Amino acid sequence: MIQPQTELLVALNHLELMIHEATDEAPKLKAMGFKIDGLEQLQKAQADLEKQLEPAVLKQYQRLQQRSGRPVVPVINGNCCGCYIKIPTAVASDAAKNRTLATCGNCGRFLYWPSE
Ligand SMILES: [Zn+2]
Repeated sequence: MIQPQTELLVALNHLELMIHEATDEAPKLKAMGFKIDGLEQLQKAQADLEKQLEPAVLKQYQRLQQRSGRPVVPVINGNCCGCYIKIPTAVASDAAKNRTLATCGNCGRFLYWPSE
């Protein structure tokens, strides 16, 4: 069971990457004659997700994004994928994993554990 706020953060982060890519590619694609119509829907979904997040979490997310561009990172093999530090076992224990909104003690990014 993944923590609902974590799930929202992961979704928001993915969505923002998609928006970022779509925005970057839009002028090129338009020049090639393609129509861009998914972007507005992506942005609407982004606003909806932001509304569901706790205000403090959203604020922290936006702060991290300005600083690092990647506020939510997976933990792979026990390491934070933002700064590659080993996550303490107290945070990474099966009981704690994805139950609470975990952040990296070193870089402050939100953490999630992808299901293997
Ligand atoms: Zn980190």
